[in-house]
Amino acid sequence: MSKEIYPMEEKYQEYLIDESKNLGEATSISFPENEDEVQEIVKTLLRERVPITVQGSMTGIVGGSIPCGGHIMNLQKMKRILSFANQEQPQVTVEAGVSLEELEQGIDRHYRGERYFWPPTPSEGTASIGGILATAARGMNVSYYGDTKKYVSEIQMVDGMGKLHVIGRSSAEESDLLDTIIGSEGLLGIITKATLVLRKRLEESWGITFFFKELDQIDAFVKGLEEIEETLSKCIVATEYADRRALDLVESKKAFMNKIKELPDIEKAFNHLLYLELGGTEERITQTAEVLMNLALECGSDPDKAWAVMGEMEIQKMHAFHHCVAECINLYTEEVRRGDNRITKLEADIALPELPFKECIEFYREEAQRQILDIAIFGHVKGRYLHANILPKNYTEYESGEKLIDFWNREAYEKYGQVAIEHGIGKVKNRLTKYIYTEKQRAQMVTQKQEYDPQQLLNRGNVFSEDTDDKDSSMYEAGASL
Ligand SMILES: Cc1cc2nc3c(=O)[nH]c(=O)nc-3n(C[C@H](O)[C@H](O)[C@H](O)COP(=O)(O)OP(=O)(O)OC[C@H]3O[C@@H](n4cnc5c(N)ncnc54)[C@H](O)[C@@H]3O)c2cc1C
Repeated sequence: MSKEIYPMEEKYQEYLIDESKNLGEATSISFPENEDEVQEIVKTLLRERVPITVQGSMTGIVGGSIPCGGHIMNLQKMKRILSFANQEQPQVTVEAGVSLEELEQGIDRHYRGERYFWPPTPSEGTASIGGILATAARGMNVSYYGDTKKYVSEIQMVDGMGKLHVIGRSSAEESDLLDTIIGSEGLLGIITKATLVLRKRLEESWGITFFFKELDQIDAFVKGLEEIEETLSKCIVATEYADRRALDLVESKKAFMNKIKELPDIEKAFNHLLYLELGGTEERITQTAEVLMNLALECGSDPDKAWAVMGEMEIQKMHAFHHCVAECINLYTEEVRRGDNRITKLEADIALPELPFKECIEFYREEAQRQILDIAIFGHVKGRYLHANILPKNYTEYESGEKLIDFWNREAYEKYGQVAIEHGIGKVKNRLTKYIYTEKQRAQMVTQKQEYDPQQLLNRGNVFSEDTDDKDSSMYEAGASL
């Protein structure tokens, strides 16, 4: 074995679990420090047909970085910011293990006050660039800036045979391949480097958080907003929702969370929170804010109770608040898991863009209430990318919760067509692949897998189930599992 490959020992236990709280198993681990080492390790393991699970920062919530046997390749030591280039738009090339926070610090240091940033900002700052690209992760400003793919001009990737590929955008075909790799959850190769396209921050940023008592009130506001949005100078750069259960979880932990502990307590009567972020020139923002305040008043939300903030520092606090919503739900799972380690995170991650806001909330609530399961909902209002998290108290509820997630996915598929997701499939949701990718898409993915990883060693269990009896969700031949 290569000198960089270590047998699994007690001290590496933390690399067996990610934020999905699923526990994996592995026989060896490596921490390559550069691309050459990645290639060497892959070639060594290929000889023995050892499966490899790739890890960035392990903040994923669908178990993608959790090994099901074989080898763990953790890229946390590949942390160099390699170069900056000023082409049509400024770009930065980094190694895959650089975290989002480290990237932001590097950009600030290089551009000194010129206010450049990389727009796909998933809220977890410790996430690695490799992990972000593998899952096509994005943050709350996605409806304004668009998909992560738009902000990647080139990657370097080591495939399942140890061969290095440089994939850019010099032809339509190459560009399509790059877009396919982004979001393919490490099935085609190990991203070692990426060149990222930067943008200038908007001139001004304001945030307004409205509170509503009734679902009908927030629904009327969302409807009103969607009717007039085109006239609002494209100023709205985020629309985030959190329900009362999510807010209760944050309130119970707020005192221990430095970034948000000074925010006012949220009145018990408020059952729905809607955060709107505005960006652009001061004049446009002021006009838009006035329209929004009037609309809120008409829909029963008191503008005097709204939180209104301006400037990047204050906006960061609002982002931290919404990050805490996700974090507190994960903390809840961790606490319950201490009593029973079979319990893992249970999140439905389904976009329902065609549904009115109220129906979208009811889609989740009705069945959860019927089954007496506790849920917390949060996420993007635009595109209805809402995340319904089941909060089980014990294993019996956990088992019902798993079935409820399957039910929601099946319902969404049957009623509204293909299910779009935001946080990836990983291993936690691979039984749902048939709802998420069409047969044609699955066949294309299998063909690409054959080309880049013919031995099927990379990230086994991600996206495609290893249960070969489940023909719709597996790509592995019966008897061919490693
Ligand atoms: C509190 C919290 C908030 C979050 N908020 C958001 C959010 O706003 N938006 C969002 O989209 N996600 C969010 N996430 C999920 C998570 O942060 C993202 O999925 C993130 O992109 C994962 O990055 P990572 O480095 O931790 O990847 P990991 O968890 O280590 O890996 C994720 C997947 O990528 C693969 N992978 C990792 N690195 C590479 C590589 N170099 N080459 C090939 N494959 C690789 C892994 O095998 C795995 O399948 C959140 C998570 C938490 C815990």
